[in-house]
Amino acid sequence: MNDQCRGIVFHGIGEPERSLERGEDRYWISADRFYRCLDAVLSLPDPSSVYISFDDGNASDHDLALPALVERGLTADFFVLTGRIDQPGSLASDQIDALHRAGMGVGSHGMHHLNWREIAPDTLRTELEGSRAALERICGATIDRASVPFGRFNRQVVAAARAAGYRRLATNEGGSFQRGAFMAPRTNMRADMTEQDYVDLIRGDERFLRKVRRLIGRVRRRFV
Ligand SMILES: [Zn+2]
Repeated sequence: MNDQCRGIVFHGIGEPERSLERGEDRYWISADRFYRCLDAVLSLPDPSSVYISFDDGNASDHDLALPALVERGLTADFFVLTGRIDQPGSLASDQIDALHRAGMGVGSHGMHHLNWREIAPDTLRTELEGSRAALERICGATIDRASVPFGRFNRQVVAAARAAGYRRLATNEGGSFQRGAFMAPRTNMRADMTEQDYVDLIRGDERFLRKVRRLIGRVRRRFV
């Protein structure tokens, strides 16, 4: 079995049920597109070579993504903003617990969607530890993974995540990584990508990966 994984990250599926942050709409995709992505994963010789994840803790994680994943026998990690739990349009506590009980991974995306590169060390520690404590209370289990808001990280962010006890840090610079690695780079599934882009990415088409790297170089990503 190939030891390399490709990471993909979804944000919102379908219609948002809360007001979006500026520029966030480009990270919402239709349910049909989402289902076709999952079917493309399922069509691979080894579906586990794609690391599926979700950031921001939108209600669509539970309402649309969970049943679609379960139906296909796939699993994913859901990175939750704990400051939004139980707010309209975001996951409720019992929905997070339901994701966990269904065998999905639950992780932290911090509390308040802050840029971890720019906040003070004390604030970063609170974001990492407070969010994990909240999720552990809800799931009754150890939470050992986090994803970086906006893909903004540096050496200090990585060190703080390790010090807080995390065993996986998901980022957004695309590419592939070794199964079980601490750093898990992912590619954003964006509304402005074509269906062929999605499929090429999921299949690990090298031409597409180069195209993504060019796009990342040109476009300053606001949301991840
Ligand atoms: Zn985010």
